[in-house]
Amino acid sequence: MDSWKKHVRLFIPGPVEVSPEILDEMGRPMIGHRSKAYQDLHASTVEKLKKILFTENDVHLSASSATGVFEACVRNCIKKKALACVCGAFSKKWYQVAIENGKECDKIEVEWGKAIKPEMIDEKLSTGEYDSLLFVNNETSTGVASPLYEIAEVVKKYPDVVFMVDAVSSLTGMKLEVDKLGIDVCLAGTQKAFALPPGLAIFTVSEKAYKRAESVPNRGHYFDFLGFRKYGQKNQTPSTPAISQIYALNLQLERMLNEGMENRFKRHAQMAEFTRKWVIDSGFELFTEKGYESNTLTTVLNNKGIDVNELISKLVDKGMIIGNGYGELKNKTFRIAHMGDTTMDDMKELLNNMSEILEGEK
Ligand SMILES: *Cc1c(COP(=O)(O)O)cnc(C)c1O
Repeated sequence: MDSWKKHVRLFIPGPVEVSPEILDEMGRPMIGHRSKAYQDLHASTVEKLKKILFTENDVHLSASSATGVFEACVRNCIKKKALACVCGAFSKKWYQVAIENGKECDKIEVEWGKAIKPEMIDEKLSTGEYDSLLFVNNETSTGVASPLYEIAEVVKKYPDVVFMVDAVSSLTGMKLEVDKLGIDVCLAGTQKAFALPPGLAIFTVSEKAYKRAESVPNRGHYFDFLGFRKYGQKNQTPSTPAISQIYALNLQLERMLNEGMENRFKRHAQMAEFTRKWVIDSGFELFTEKGYESNTLTTVLNNKGIDVNELISKLVDKGMIIGNGYGELKNKTFRIAHMGDTTMDDMKELLNNMSEILEGEK
């Protein structure tokens, strides 16, 4: 069955292209989730995750998408009140998840396309009102990478605050050192920069976050951090894990470590730079605030007023697809993903195709 060879190649910001080798790995025979074979797989996967996350903290595997871990974070770690940093659709969603779970949560909100700055967080946290911080590293709806390293320095001044970071669309494409940054919970789904099929999320938990969870009632059942800790000690998960996904993750982590993480970050930076140059050379503008452009996706401002849907459908005829703008940004912007296993050659091919389409339209 060669149908995958003819499929439309994804340059949307998730799900992204998955290598055939990875898809094959998901076809392995099943094993019992309480077996030694599973424990070995779990241990090996977690060990590699610790390397790519630069952490000694526990890493857990969740049979859910990343949004499930949004819920886990608010249920386990918000005791008094949280501060959410809203700069686009996904960060807004995390805020809403907190509210919908009956938690107290305030927000800092900036215009879409702008970044969250360390001073904004410092000012809010200095009131002493907050025990938790919800921060999205790479806002996939706008292509903004807020300055995580600078923000982490500010958060360190507030040791009672549990620092939770959504790294869904940046992790493994942009450097993120969990321990150095003092991140208490770092979460990611696997269908973005990990370049795996959707359905699996990973998250780290610090001692501080476990301690907080111990003092918070009504953590729920499925995402209880203390359940994950207990089973994690046996290299298991509290309920049946997504075993096929974990096989794929384990192999993908192996491939990442073979590439070398620094090389991987560099490859993403090169693809991003190349794409941004194409944007300017093509007479478009970048939507994202200058200096805060993501290395895993580029959001293009449609200042030329092109028909974005027509561009996308002509691109599909050539076997590739990019993303339209998110929500209200539809047609006003469009998004080009350059993450996961995507290479410079892929980007050259994509952007050449786009140039051809755009020039033909003149
Ligand atoms: C995709 C995404 C999510 C949500 O992930 P799901 O897998 O749809 O639950 C959350 N945050 C960011 C930054 C994302 O890009």
